[in-house]
Amino acid sequence: MTYSIEKVTTLIGARRYGDQAANIGFLLTDSRSLCFPEETLFFALKSGRRNGHEFIPDLYRRGVRNFVVDALPQDYATTYPGSNFLKVISPLEALQRLAERHRDEFNIPVVGVTGSNGKTIVKEWLYQLLSPSLSVTRSPRSYNSQIGVPLSVWLLGEQSQVGVFEAGISQPGEMQALRNIIQPTIGVITNIGSAHQENFPSMEAKVDEKLDLFRDASVIVYPGDSKEIASRVGERSFKGDHLWWSVADANAPLYIKNVEKGETSTTVTYIYNKVGGECQYTLPFIDEASIENSITCCAVCLSLGISAADIAGRMPKLEAVAMRLEVKQGQHGCTLINDSYNSDINSLDIALDFISRRPDHKGRRRTLILSDILQSGMTRDQLYAEVSELCVKRGVEKFIGVGPDLMAEADRIGVGEKYFFPDSQTFIKSPVFSTLRDEVILIKGARAFGFDGISELLEQKVHETILEVNLQAVVDNLNYYRSYMKPETKLVCMVKANAYGSGAVEVAKTLQDHRVDYLAVAVADEGVTLRKNGITSNIMIMNPEMTAFKTMFDYDLEPEVYSFRLLDALVKAARREGITGYPVHIKLDTGMHRLGFNPKTDIDELIHRLQSQNAIIPRSVFSHFVGSDSDDFDNFSKMQFDLFDEASSKLQAAFPHKILRHICNSAGIEHFPERQLDMCRLGLGLYGIDSRDNHILNNVSTLKTTILQLRDVPKEETVGYSRKGHLTRDSRIAAIPIGYADGLNRHLGRGNCYCLVNGQKAPYVGNICMDVAMIDVTGIPCKEGDTVEIFGDHLPVTVLSDVLDTIPYEVLTSVSDRVKRVYYQD
Ligand SMILES: *Cc1c(COP(=O)(O)O)cnc(C)c1O
Repeated sequence: MTYSIEKVTTLIGARRYGDQAANIGFLLTDSRSLCFPEETLFFALKSGRRNGHEFIPDLYRRGVRNFVVDALPQDYATTYPGSNFLKVISPLEALQRLAERHRDEFNIPVVGVTGSNGKTIVKEWLYQLLSPSLSVTRSPRSYNSQIGVPLSVWLLGEQSQVGVFEAGISQPGEMQALRNIIQPTIGVITNIGSAHQENFPSMEAKVDEKLDLFRDASVIVYPGDSKEIASRVGERSFKGDHLWWSVADANAPLYIKNVEKGETSTTVTYIYNKVGGECQYTLPFIDEASIENSITCCAVCLSLGISAADIAGRMPKLEAVAMRLEVKQGQHGCTLINDSYNSDINSLDIALDFISRRPDHKGRRRTLILSDILQSGMTRDQLYAEVSELCVKRGVEKFIGVGPDLMAEADRIGVGEKYFFPDSQTFIKSPVFSTLRDEVILIKGARAFGFDGISELLEQKVHETILEVNLQAVVDNLNYYRSYMKPETKLVCMVKANAYGSGAVEVAKTLQDHRVDYLAVAVADEGVTLRKNGITSNIMIMNPEMTAFKTMFDYDLEPEVYSFRLLDALVKAARREGITGYPVHIKLDTGMHRLGFNPKTDIDELIHRLQSQNAIIPRSVFSHFVGSDSDDFDNFSKMQFDLFDEASSKLQAAFPHKILRHICNSAGIEHFPERQLDMCRLGLGLYGIDSRDNHILNNVSTLKTTILQLRDVPKEETVGYSRKGHLTRDSRIAAIPIGYADGLNRHLGRGNCYCLVNGQKAPYVGNICMDVAMIDVTGIPCKEGDTVEIFGDHLPVTVLSDVLDTIPYEVLTSVSDRVKRVYYQD
């Protein structure tokens, strides 16, 4: 569906400047995601430090002609001929208004899902359960925010027969906007937990805010056994039908009479509205969360008139919801991007966008391996025409289609190099498969096509021990720290020591995509690696070696300068190369007594030497806090700051150009936001650890391995070298392929620490070996091949650093290079 620009102007109540005719089909809020410029309407949003208005010149150059703004650009008519500017008070509200008016066009059932956990799973399962008989439009991935919801609802089109949208809130007052956009006819609350509790005065207040989504719904679905939810629903008068479910109360509209767990599946027996007697379905999961989510989905299906027989037929086919997009090393110089999220056109677009935003140094080909897209609700020719257009716009150079529909639509795919196969096996046996070389390959397939087999064969065989790195968590941490900073304050992100162990290249690509001002590494070689992998951001070298000046000039790496000896050598090297005005960063020692000029005694001489040459110029001046992570040192920090403030101001006063001043590291940003000056340097916080109290923000790295072998060892035997693991009971011992050579510190052994096996604590038994460790899994249900978490999402790295009497930095940076890093994005 498209809207004329006149119609959009009226719907959002804008003043229009420009009279170009246009039809709008795509809404854009992030300039990096542009795909169809002619039909795009760009909303220049202001959020935190980002001002969308800054991207108008770039978007205009790329063909966008329609903009929603709160201020007209200067000389808009001459600078941007042929454009329409729609001026409003708030572009965000205009976006929401437009989605609301779009929603008004549809008189169909719309399900709005909220709750603390399980929203995305319930939404995806509803899609799986409903799409055999209805054309479902749903939020892509977890687009559930103030911006994500309008973009999701905008996807409703002529084919839509039911909508399923997620609503997520983190602040009071947000739900009202989402309610107006989603206008749910069926409201669903999955459960309530502690997420974002800090922003709400009480649990009741948070439940109330969530329930606000349902104000005008005709049916509300909720777990009646949750006291927090049931009592708040009771307090408020909803006009809709209450479809609550309970395992305890036989009077519930959906009474769950029995839940029987088997080895791999669960059978749920229920009575709906006491009519029709007992019904049953079986789902292929046995964990509590899945069972509850299935019941919620069952309730929604019933209220949409899906028969108990259809529910029973569809539930066993439910698939686990994988939201991940994984980046892995492949064979033969390939990089694999494995997107296990349900195959549909919106998620294909998101995955292609992800790839096109990651620089590739070698200019490798971009290849897409795609299966037939099932249950799209579109006709086949329409669907594959859209797929083709997306691929062309997003720069796919080689297309491999798997499945009968794609075979039939082969002509429609407009990519230069293309191949088609009826199924995965035929593809795997073909020369097209065996000759994949030096390509960036996106693998995206509906589960029915068995794409796991393809990605397994293409992956480099890795040691079973991996470090999983969550790139989304890096971004969330970045935004958390930015929230303490003024929009104009610049930011250096520390990716030294291989990004605190998580892998500098992929983390730097993500940070560059989020437009940080500087990246910083310790030595020149680390900077060169980044440049060779396509990083174009500014890069600062914190410990420049005298032998590497030429390398730094060649690769545009900006050194820190901390002594006269270094300064003189650098000036000399720059002159030799005929370089002038090379940017450097001046370090002052205000109390660390490590490296740096003395702010009291050196500053005049420093100014003099800098002024009497033109080979280098000071781009910034900085110092480092000794103890910003502890209140105990607040007086010392103040002394450091004052010393720095005075000396750096003096330096600035001696030069006509702006010299950026910076002193705050992660803890400083949080603790002394008033000392942020022109720039801050974010390190540990980016990797999810708050060094002030060691709590985990968003966990980034998870070190994982698998059980190699299990054995029963009788009481009184010993385990491992030097007979240190003395067993005091009959025990079940698991061997895991990780040892001190992988970075698992030996002092964690002999019962000093534990890892997690299927969520339970398994202590290390005996001495940790070089490549293997033994753990006690007595009483823990597990089998060979099961995953073991060494630290990460469920076992904070700080537990290990506390046992080792060290800091988390050391544990993170100790994970050795032979442990493969696997990156993913939710
Ligand atoms: C490592 C480093 C940082 C980052 O410190 P965190 O405590 O990790 O935030 C900042 N500045 C300098 C000079 C550093 O060496």
